[in-house]
Amino acid sequence: MKIGILYICTGRYTIFWNNFYRSMKKYFLPNHSIEYFVFTDGKLDNIDENVHIIHQKKLGWPHDTLMRFHMFSSAKNLLCKCDYLFFINANLIINVPIDEQILPMEENYMGVLHPGFFNKRRSRFTYETRRQSTAFIPFFKGKHYFMGGFNGGKAEYFIKMSETLMKNIEQDLKNGIIAIWHDESHLNRYFWEHRKEVKILNPEYGYPEGWNLPFEAKITILDKSKHGGYDFLRS
Ligand code: UDP
Repeated sequence: MKIGILYICTGRYTIFWNNFYRSMKKYFLPNHSIEYFVFTDGKLDNIDENVHIIHQKKLGWPHDTLMRFHMFSSAKNLLCKCDYLFFINANLIINVPIDEQILPMEENYMGVLHPGFFNKRRSRFTYETRRQSTAFIPFFKGKHYFMGGFNGGKAEYFIKMSETLMKNIEQDLKNGIIAIWHDESHLNRYFWEHRKEVKILNPEYGYPEGWNLPFEAKITILDKSKHGGYDFLRS
């Protein structure tokens, strides 16, 4: 199987690349061929021939993350050669072998329950609540809150989703709206609309460093405060 990994590191987020890449090479679907598509404005060490650098200028916060679906859509001619595509946040680290269990087989997409919400009631979910936004989810609708930092799907479907969400985000921007949690709000809206097509993983695949959750930490979300903090990294 050919797996494409989508990775964005603009500005200071390049500091996460080396450890991310090392952990991926060791543990991520080791029996498959992995291609990396790295959207960056930086110079990365450790580049093998399966790492494809796609120049991406720093757009500023929150566009560096919000515009991810524009980035993926613009690379669709490369991405469509893969069987599966996964987006992974810059500050994630793989700790143990990750096998085919993460691949949607019957389903078309894969989403990870957000570690901050997996045990919360619907009323606590931070979906977009403004009707004017294309990411809006009506009150009392939606059963799961997914994290934006690790998700994927069959390539054809992931590309289709990226193109839809790119258009949705464009429409919001024209109306002067940025969804509350940026790309994550749009992903949640899309997964809510396509809920029967989503393979749901629990937060063992997105376990924040230093938290105490009832899961094995298969994939750790590194604590950004130990790497300069949000403001430093995003500026
Ligand atoms: N990102 C980036 N450069 C930036 C800001 C964000 O490359 O200046 C990318 C990076 O892949 C990061 C993702 O956008 O993991 C999500 O942003 P961030 O980590 O700040 O948000 P979080 O999901 O942790 O709140």
